[in-house]
Amino acid sequence: MSEEMKSRKEKVLSNVKNGYDRIGEDELQTMEEYCRVYKDYLDRGKTERLCVKRTVELAEAAGFVAYRRGMELRPGARVYTVNRGKAIMLAVIGRRSLAEGCQITASHIDSPRLDVKPIPLYEDDGMAYFKTHYYGGIRKYQWVTVPLELRGVVALKDGTVTEVALGEGDEPKYVITDLLPHLGGEQGKKPLNEAIPGENLNILLGSRPVGEAGESDRVKLNVMEKLHEKYGITEDDFASAELEAVPAANATDIGLDASLIGAYGHDDRVCGFAGLQALLDLDIPAKTAVCVLADKEEIGSMGVTGMQSAAFDTFINDLCDGQDVLLRQCYENAFCLSTDVTAAYDPSFPEVYEKRNSAHINFGLGLCKYTGARGKSGSSDAGAETVAYVRRVLDEKDVVWQISELGRVDAGGGGTVAQYMANRNIATLDAGVPVLSMHAPFEVVSKLDAYMTYKGCKAVYEVE
Ligand code: MN
Ligand code: MN
Repeated sequence: MSEEMKSRKEKVLSNVKNGYDRIGEDELQTMEEYCRVYKDYLDRGKTERLCVKRTVELAEAAGFVAYRRGMELRPGARVYTVNRGKAIMLAVIGRRSLAEGCQITASHIDSPRLDVKPIPLYEDDGMAYFKTHYYGGIRKYQWVTVPLELRGVVALKDGTVTEVALGEGDEPKYVITDLLPHLGGEQGKKPLNEAIPGENLNILLGSRPVGEAGESDRVKLNVMEKLHEKYGITEDDFASAELEAVPAANATDIGLDASLIGAYGHDDRVCGFAGLQALLDLDIPAKTAVCVLADKEEIGSMGVTGMQSAAFDTFINDLCDGQDVLLRQCYENAFCLSTDVTAAYDPSFPEVYEKRNSAHINFGLGLCKYTGARGKSGSSDAGAETVAYVRRVLDEKDVVWQISELGRVDAGGGGTVAQYMANRNIATLDAGVPVLSMHAPFEVVSKLDAYMTYKGCKAVYEVE
């Protein structure tokens, strides 16, 4: 290329580079360390409750204290509040008044999985099973023949809540069986989304009978007695239980170059952890920085622990009360980065992507001006000014970012918590880590993109 053409191109044409061509050797080491801690967070946080628990441990170690209504908060104060064990909000109070707004990152820590039904336990042909009802958008065929753990709680009428952890470490795992190919001919002709019906997602719990031959439900009894021995629960107690079947595999590096991370629950803990770690690493910001880790995003952000809940408004209102500021004034000057994963371009399935407008692995934090489906429906569609603001904020801190859509026009779509933040009169933009095999029991992200999302969240918090 002639020098003249080169300079003409550089002047007006975009020149997006792979993140590895933009990151220095020192920062690569920081990235590796960051990803090590992230993988540990995933392994300890396979459910929203466990994520909250780990988040509290990390926050308290970093000087955060549980918020009490009315407590005095000076600039630099670090507080958190847990919403019913399943969602958490953390804040670092800024030097400036909340009347000037706050800088928020909002992500979710619930992930697609199989929830155990209220009357789950049965025996069939000498084997015991749990019935499940899937949570969130799963591809059912991906959840068979995968080792599973059972995590969650059983709440008893006397108010005690027993934590259940079955299948951790070296303990026995659980599994959903599938047909052998020899007999799978008819099943194989069905569309993928019909081959494994939801009512077939039954978790195998055991096969060893107790008592005398001829009695009924001998395997079921054995399973229930073991649960009773371990947790003091009876079959009726499943009515007030939340047990989640989640993949038993832990997070691991992927590839000869170990440049990727494979794990369950990247959606959306990869963004949740980014916002959290950025907040933990924050000094005293100019504006109050708020990190939200919400529940229920995968089923519409509904409910008391979802992003549509007034729990968020209550927390921010409480902080505003401490400064005699109106909540609505804080919101209208606030900014939210709705950090949720996006689809990474997968070269094995080019037909569902529009390559130019897709998020690519190793090209950094993926901004999405809009999400939605069928003509952006259900998307809050951030204003151009909001996107420009974020471009500036990210560029000032050398964050590698890209801008993308989730798939081809009319190929499908998705949503995030962005619309619920925007509905509160908070300027909001979607941004997140590109993911391969999103919602599968084992999803893949790039270390560089995960790390750049941390840097992006920090840049948002550190706005002057
Ligand atoms: Mn998500
Ligand atoms: Mn999702």
